[in-house]
Amino acid sequence: MNAYDGDRLRGAMTGRGWRETDDVFGSDFAIFVTCCIRDKAEQKVLSELGRFRASWERKGRPRIALLGCMAERAGAELPKRFPWVRVVAGPRRLGAVPDAITDAYENGRVRVIPSAGPRALDDLYCAPVPNANRHKAYVTIAHGCDQFCSYCIVPHVRGRFASRDPDEIIREASSLVEGGVKEITLLGQNVNTYGRDFVDGRSGCRFSNLLSDVASLKGLRRLRFTTSHPVDFTDDILDVMSGGGVICPSINLPVQAGSDKVLREMNRRYTRAEYLALIGRVRDALPGAAITTDLIVGFPGETEREFEESVSLLEEVRFDLAHTAAYSPREGTPAAARDDQVPAGEKARRLVRVNEVQALISRAINKSMEGRTFEVMLDEAAPRGEGLLQGRTVTDKVVLVRAPGEMEGSIRGVRVTASTPWCLEGDLT
Ligand code: SAH
Ligand code: SF4
Repeated sequence: MNAYDGDRLRGAMTGRGWRETDDVFGSDFAIFVTCCIRDKAEQKVLSELGRFRASWERKGRPRIALLGCMAERAGAELPKRFPWVRVVAGPRRLGAVPDAITDAYENGRVRVIPSAGPRALDDLYCAPVPNANRHKAYVTIAHGCDQFCSYCIVPHVRGRFASRDPDEIIREASSLVEGGVKEITLLGQNVNTYGRDFVDGRSGCRFSNLLSDVASLKGLRRLRFTTSHPVDFTDDILDVMSGGGVICPSINLPVQAGSDKVLREMNRRYTRAEYLALIGRVRDALPGAAITTDLIVGFPGETEREFEESVSLLEEVRFDLAHTAAYSPREGTPAAARDDQVPAGEKARRLVRVNEVQALISRAINKSMEGRTFEVMLDEAAPRGEGLLQGRTVTDKVVLVRAPGEMEGSIRGVRVTASTPWCLEGDLT
């Protein structure tokens, strides 16, 4: 979502005559789109901000716009601590940012733009200009989140769930496809509840309808979406997906924990058995699908036995990948106020353990792909290695392929020759 917001700002600022540069310290303005999901994300931004002190004291630039969730949380504090921060605006005030940046630049003002409440939305209506990869783009379909998982800060900083207008989404997606984008990922904190907040004549609008509408755009080759919530992943979504076509058989279904007690305390609204039943339905409907998950270890009060239930769940489901994290207390959330926090050392040990278990599973799954041929979209030069392109299978596996640069952007048959838990290597067929 932050990448997408950055892409829209890129469109808005270049449209106003600003030019993008890789030379951050030589620039007039630097824009940070921040995350505060865990303390570590915030610490990274604080240490980045610190790096601008010398340049500010010597040259008075670059000025910095600090946007995103951390801006919402830390707000007015930041310009006091880092005087080079001249614009602060949360994720629902993106629409005010281009003017604020211009104003801060031309008039030397500091602009802290407060949120107008969890339902107000001052969005930026500007086509995204993807820069990380011109073949793939994101489209946000809904802002905010109403789930209030007890550990999570997202509903507090990104406000209430608000679906974007379907026509606007289709317009944006088609303009991206017309501009050469081949793969789109639809984004939301819980994409499955798309449209549920519409109260007018669009009340029949559901995620499955939107998915099939975007999928029918001419020229689009691949369509993905993230994130799904296990409670709201209904069978109509599977029906649309199993119709084939461009929707990729790859689903992120965050489980967060394997113990019913922890799930209840996390306010996840499903049990382990219900989650496993859903996995069964997904695998019946989409036999080759890749399923990934998110998992938190060391939630307050999580006992060793309950933690082992997360480990056994990983072993039972055999996810393609698990995004794991040690629980990080976030101020203002119910879980952070508990007095039965798991010690940091113990959380670290649990994290190592789940990562080891998952690495073995991912290694075995990837190993089983060796010798087989898959369609790979070669979407960028590999970060390391001359003459290598990097691509993805429909199941979102990273593949490194020896291929000429002009093949970038095309979908090719690739025979997998080697694998690690995180990556495949292959040859063009
Ligand atoms: N809406 C999505 C993504 C939320 S943020 C979802 O529900 O899955 C991405 C992931 O960050 C979450 O899935 C969760 O695993 C992790 N996360 C959120 N809050 C956290 C916290 N306080 N400590 C550690 N991990 C957290
Ligand atoms: Fe956070 Fe839960 Fe919303 Fe995901 S669904 S963003 S974990 S509150």
